[in-house]
Amino acid sequence: TKSLFWFRRDLRHFDNAALYQALKQSRSCYCVFIFDTTILQALPKQDRRVQFIHQSVQELRDELKRIGAHLITLHGDPALEIPRLAAKLAVNAVFANRDYEPTAIARDQQVRQQLSQFQCDFIDYKDQVIFEQDEVLSLAGKPFSVFTPYKNAWLKKLASETEDGADFYFQSYPVARYVNNFAEHVESPFPSLAELGFEELDQDALKLQGGMCAGAALLDDFLTRIDRYGLARDFPAIKGPSYLSVHLRFGTVSIRYLVSQAMRHIRTASGNDGASVWLSELIWRDFYFMILYHNPRVVGNSYKPEYDAIQWESGSEAKRLFEAWCEGKTGYPLVDAAMLQLNQTGYMHNRLRMVVASFLVKDLGIDWRWGEAYFALHLNDFDLSANNGGWQWAASTGCDAQPYFRIFNPITQSEKFDAEGKFIRRYLPQLAKLNAKQIHAPWNTSPIELRAANIQLGVDYPHPIVAHDVARLRTLERYSVVKKVS
Ligand code: FAD
Repeated sequence: TKSLFWFRRDLRHFDNAALYQALKQSRSCYCVFIFDTTILQALPKQDRRVQFIHQSVQELRDELKRIGAHLITLHGDPALEIPRLAAKLAVNAVFANRDYEPTAIARDQQVRQQLSQFQCDFIDYKDQVIFEQDEVLSLAGKPFSVFTPYKNAWLKKLASETEDGADFYFQSYPVARYVNNFAEHVESPFPSLAELGFEELDQDALKLQGGMCAGAALLDDFLTRIDRYGLARDFPAIKGPSYLSVHLRFGTVSIRYLVSQAMRHIRTASGNDGASVWLSELIWRDFYFMILYHNPRVVGNSYKPEYDAIQWESGSEAKRLFEAWCEGKTGYPLVDAAMLQLNQTGYMHNRLRMVVASFLVKDLGIDWRWGEAYFALHLNDFDLSANNGGWQWAASTGCDAQPYFRIFNPITQSEKFDAEGKFIRRYLPQLAKLNAKQIHAPWNTSPIELRAANIQLGVDYPHPIVAHDVARLRTLERYSVVKKVS
């Protein structure tokens, strides 16, 4: 039998579930990656993620070549290209790893149907999560909507599947065992970024390297400090988190391997909180994939429907406030530094994602969907499930979200999580001369002190676009419709 393996958000040739199965179940397996025009044509011509994907596919192609395999690369609409290629190669089945986003599910359904017309199967496997769909259910057999019981059931399931989670998940899909089953060489040119219609970004300035090697290097570095994760993860000025999200997004690292490493650290004698807290974050990732799968309506709608009664700000004033937020010009230094981090690097620290999301929704009164869309365009690690989940959490419209009356104070958050103002100074050098007390709310600093720090408010740095105390009351009023509806 002949098969075709379709790489999507799983750009690695090791521990890859569907690739392993394709090789195991067929004598001759072709591999393809499609630069998807339906996604690419909507993006700006300079896009960090496209460069990341391009680098990752190039490395994958080289690595496959080393083991005697060849990667076919195409540029087009997969719903057309996959059936066309499958027919041309006369394969019996197309293998792929499962995707849980509504548009991807619809596309796969279309491909499956096209293939069935010439008796070609579409076979998909779980790969990008540990547990999917209905694998973790409540005792009543229902999908969870609250994280903590989900996490407990998730951990129980992991434990029940193996005596030693670490070893069980390590290299569960040893692709190397079946390398002889790769098909013969098929000529296929590899398009340059320019040919795909994108401009090359300065790699040094980008500080983002695609591919499996880069993912492995980040993981190695993180594992030397995983024990401190619980203490360090909330402070944006220090190297606390793993920075692996973009690699998880495109599958240049294996979630099974990451979980096995976390388990290993949890089990060691010196292991402390760090690895458990990190494992929890990986479980949040599974949780939001599960939520999206069971509730595709969360795309564009509140998870809790009664929250769709909220009236958000609209009109030109809302647009002006939104623009100030996007550009990092709100006058709240931590919010602005965070937005500049996103705009300049494509990454934003988790604590700051919560702070800026809360600020947009609860200080500016702007619809969470605007912020969600902005993040979707700019985050290197943009993932529909986690992004939607994060925004709905911050807006209090989501499952297990923070209650609407809990409103982050952007100044207190700044004093707590960037006490010295180190992170703020990195992105707002014009505030560098303010001391650790002044930097969180420059407008509270006396004109003499501002002058001494070379700052003229309204010229070097904006006045605050909103007064937090006033905004807070307006937000409580705005959300009161929820009580009336429910
Ligand atoms: P680490 O702290 O090292 O965490 C390890 C991994 O766990 C992450 O790479 C990620 O895969 C997962 N993870 C961590 N926190 C969460 C979470 N709250 N929900 C789901 N998974 C999580 N994460 C994305 O991957 N893509 C997004 O588009 C995204 N948008 C977000 C939007 C908002 C408003 C908020 C509040 C959070 C969002 N997150 C998103 C979650 C989180 O902020 C990022 O995963 C994290 O900052 C990535 O950095 P890291 O890899 O260094 O994380």
